[in-house]
Amino acid sequence: MSGPQARLQGRICPACGGTGLTEKERHTHEADSNGNLIPQVNRFLSACTLCGGSKVVYG
Ligand SMILES: [Zn+2]
Repeated sequence: MSGPQARLQGRICPACGGTGLTEKERHTHEADSNGNLIPQVNRFLSACTLCGGSKVVYG
């Protein structure tokens, strides 16, 4: 007599902690005024690859 409870229960995405974004690093080189290449690390946010930016995962 127990009907199926087909309620999808999402939980906070463990990869991004519910922000939908993850921080990534991009390593580049930029030339200074003397033409020397200086290594640079740029951090940027992009959509979480686990939840695709939806902030929750199912299952
Ligand atoms: Zn996520």
